[in-house]
Amino acid sequence: MIAAEINVMMPMPPISLPVRGRFAPSPTGALHLGSLLAALGSYLHAKIQGGEWWLRIEDVDRDREVPGAAQSQLESLRHFGLQWDGEVVRQSQRHALYQAALDDLLARGLAFECHCSRNDLAASAGLHHACLARTKRPQPAFRLRVTTGCKVDFHDEVLGPQSQRVDMEVGDFVLKRADGHWAYQLAVVVDDAAQGITEVVRGADLADSTARQILLQKALGLPTPRYLHLPLLLDENGRKLSKSLAALPLDTSDAMPALRLVWQALGQPARAVAAATNPRQWLSLALANFEPSRIPTRPSALHNMVFINPA
Ligand code: GLU
Repeated sequence: MIAAEINVMMPMPPISLPVRGRFAPSPTGALHLGSLLAALGSYLHAKIQGGEWWLRIEDVDRDREVPGAAQSQLESLRHFGLQWDGEVVRQSQRHALYQAALDDLLARGLAFECHCSRNDLAASAGLHHACLARTKRPQPAFRLRVTTGCKVDFHDEVLGPQSQRVDMEVGDFVLKRADGHWAYQLAVVVDDAAQGITEVVRGADLADSTARQILLQKALGLPTPRYLHLPLLLDENGRKLSKSLAALPLDTSDAMPALRLVWQALGQPARAVAAATNPRQWLSLALANFEPSRIPTRPSALHNMVFINPA
């Protein structure tokens, strides 16, 4: 069974592993401001350590995929001067890896088949603690068993010490959905390990998935990478950037304004990159001046939206 309490305050990958970061967009639309922040933050964090930066298209959920979005995201990254290392990996081609991980967990009694419906779990606010289904579904879901008292502690390079009672806040969580899709949590853990990722740098909206991912890593005997969650972007009124605004495509014909804004959201000094007139120059100045300890813990408010191309 998984230990009830997992303490990984200082998840240090073995010294021999090369530093490898990644950007893992879901192909649900064009590259937008929030995704540029994650792309740039993860790129700079890996590169200032002399590391590699890999790209993974998270297209497990074919129903949410927008045709052509992955290609357009790759093109936008190139416009912003963000060149990745290695081959681009697509989750839709990695079912065998996810299945092997699930089979392993099932064989060891750490995962189980679940026929519960949303209705069955309504009384426990959607959390699963025990199967309540009275009828079998044609296609079940699969969940990781989370033992009572299960608590995960970890260190986030920006947010500091983090702790989650996974049993109370999450419950037994889905690894494969009843509709046959692989859950994000399983795919991301299997892929981060298979790709030798040592640094996970992404938006703070995913911070509360981290405990689940560490739990799964422990269950599968996989290493835990370092974690760094970037501040969410707020609009000029201090509200979370609305989905529609955050999802507006970026103007790639002039990459500089968006790069400058994202640099500001990362808490870095504007003067350090002020001399750059094109993305290549900008990135080399950014690399020479990026200081992760300046990244703010609190969400970053943006006061200028002119870089967004609403066309
Ligand atoms: N695919 C996720 C997203 O686009 C990111 C996953 C991750 O970085 O772990 O929000």
